[in-house]
Amino acid sequence: MPPAWTRRLEEELLADQVTRCYERSPFYRRKLAEGGVRPEHVLAAEDLRRIPFTTKEELRASQEAEPPLGDFACVDLVDVVRVHLTSGTTGKPLVLGYTAEDVRTSARIGARAFWAAGARPDDVLLHCLNYSFYTGGLADHAGLEETGATMVPVGLGQSRRLLELWEDLRPTALFSTLTYPLYLAETAQEAGLDPRALGLRKLIVAGEPGGQVAGTRRRLEELWGGVMRDTYGLSDVWGTFAAECNEGEGLHFSGQDGVLVELVEAETGEPVGIEPGATGELVFTHLAREATPVLRFRSRDLAEILGVDCPCGRTGFRFRVAGRSDDMFRVRGVNVFPSSLEGLLRERGLDRFAIVLDRFPVEPPVELLVEGVDGREQELAEAVKTQLGFTCIVRAATLPHSEAKSKRLYRVYEGEERP
Ligand SMILES: [Zn+2]
Repeated sequence: MPPAWTRRLEEELLADQVTRCYERSPFYRRKLAEGGVRPEHVLAAEDLRRIPFTTKEELRASQEAEPPLGDFACVDLVDVVRVHLTSGTTGKPLVLGYTAEDVRTSARIGARAFWAAGARPDDVLLHCLNYSFYTGGLADHAGLEETGATMVPVGLGQSRRLLELWEDLRPTALFSTLTYPLYLAETAQEAGLDPRALGLRKLIVAGEPGGQVAGTRRRLEELWGGVMRDTYGLSDVWGTFAAECNEGEGLHFSGQDGVLVELVEAETGEPVGIEPGATGELVFTHLAREATPVLRFRSRDLAEILGVDCPCGRTGFRFRVAGRSDDMFRVRGVNVFPSSLEGLLRERGLDRFAIVLDRFPVEPPVELLVEGVDGREQELAEAVKTQLGFTCIVRAATLPHSEAKSKRLYRVYEGEERP
């Protein structure tokens, strides 16, 4: 759809969504009053800026006062057909409601993203994310199924069984975390199987920053002899609503009729234009969510806009997620994301690492635990210094091998246990 048409569609949906929030939710009535805005004033994306931001803490407080959905919900529980939980590592999870229509919208948006990532009706697609509670389970399953792919609901904890059934299923594609293909390859090798001979041609990954790191992509593609594509979603908003296309040059925003995106300066909240090279925090406003909508929700995900068009013809802007602002730490003025270290390590064939921060403010040298680094500690520390600009001490360590997401950052100064 040409950008001007998308914009018109967005504006029509936005006016309805804001009106519905105002009429049905005391939470949003208060929000709009705070900004001195009436719903009829919000006719275009720019008008949104008059509404104050919504934070996760506010939504959590709303649900604590009025469980389960809080007073930001716009429907009664009787109209909710499913709930998911947010998977945030900090604080109590949010309960997110879906009406029957929300379930359909989520699947349609998900399918648009997964199609971009390469899912097709002739794929036999293994869904290897946790099915419990989170949108990555059922919601993403429904989005993938909507592409027409033949879905195999595998979940986690089934890797050996899956390999035993491999010849019966003949899978061609996998949807998982970034960590899982590595784990599955190791499990296959232990069983005497060569991952490259297993016929998996598409690796669609989700849920971990680092999917855009070139070294990571090369590593997984070499390991399996397939193509890796990254996707993006945020359970507070929709399951999956962005994905890399065949060009592999950033995540295409694919949620056009379900969510409006703003980019803001993380520290000041000032709007930033969505143009190539721009960076900022992603802020989301639902355009078609009935049960638990958000208006101007601060995602804490920091993104860089890579482009607004693409040879593939998609018109959703392309972006890269550097990481969550919660995961960023500062060493003497240098901003560091675990994903920036990841590229450097993967290039050296090193997959497992952990950053241990034992004091705040963080002072160099930063402790970096790396599995399999033996003998190359000094070389790696020098590469970190030259390429990322801070001093670290590299130590060899054995880190947990699991099917789940990899934990990279340990804030020992906040009471976290060392790995
Ligand atoms: Zn594209």
